Amino acid sequence: MKKRVVAIDGPAGSGKSTVARLVAKRLGFIYLDTGAIYRSLAWLAQRKGVSWGDEEGLARLCREMEIGFEGDRVFVNGEDVTSKIRTEEMGQGASVVSAHSKIRESLLALQRDFALKGGLVAEGRDMGTVVFPDAALKVFLVASVEERARRRWVELKERGVSPLPSLEEIGDMICQRDLQDSNRKTAPLKKAHDAVELDTTGLSIPQVVERIVGWARERIQS
Ligand code: C5P
Repeated sequence: MKKRVVAIDGPAGSGKSTVARLVAKRLGFIYLDTGAIYRSLAWLAQRKGVSWGDEEGLARLCREMEIGFEGDRVFVNGEDVTSKIRTEEMGQGASVVSAHSKIRESLLALQRDFALKGGLVAEGRDMGTVVFPDAALKVFLVASVEERARRRWVELKERGVSPLPSLEEIGDMICQRDLQDSNRKTAPLKKAHDAVELDTTGLSIPQVVERIVGWARERIQS
C-alpha cells in the first residue's frame, strides 16, 4: 500500500520549497522541509563549536537537537532559527553534515514520523529514494543552472541579504553543492526510478503546482 505522501526532490534552487509548500496547502497535507533539518544541525554545530566534519560530535548534537516547525518558522531547542539557517553558508554546512551516513540514519525516524500525522508533502534530496520509497507520488524537479541561480538571487534580494552575491557567484555555489550532494556515498541526490521528472525552467510557480496537484489527486484518494 502506497503512503499518502508526495515526495519532491531536486537540486538546489529547483523550486522545491515554494512548490511543495503550495502543493501541501492545496491538498490539505502537512509540509515538511527536510533541508531545514540539516541546515538546523549545521547551525547548531557552529553555535556549539562542533566541526561539520566531526561525525561523532554531530551524532551527539542530533540527540540533543529538538526541532520544531510552526507554520513557516523553524525552532531549534526553542530558539527561532528561521532566518539564521537560510544563508548560503548554512546551505553549504547542511551539505557537509548531511553527507555523514550516521547523521542521515539518526534523522530518518524524525522525518518518517511526519507521515503518521496524515497526508504529507515532503521535499529534499532523498525523499523518493530513501525516506519515503513507498510514496504515492514522487516528483523530481529540475531547472537550468541559470534559472536556479536567478531564483536564488531574487530570494536573497527579497530577504534583504547584504552584500548580495552576483548571479555568477550564486551559480558557482549551486553547482558546487549539487556536485557534493550527487556524489556522496549515502543517499545521493538522484531521481527515484519511479519518479516523474518535471523541468520547471520557463514554467510559472502556479503551473508547476497545478501539475503536481493533478498527479497527486489521480494517485491519492482522499
Ligand atoms: O534544500 P536545502 O537547500 O535547504 O538543503 C540544504 C542541504 O541539505 C542540501 O544541499 C543537501 O546537502 C542537504 N539535504 C539532504 N537531504 C535532504 C534535504 C537536504 O542531504 N533530504
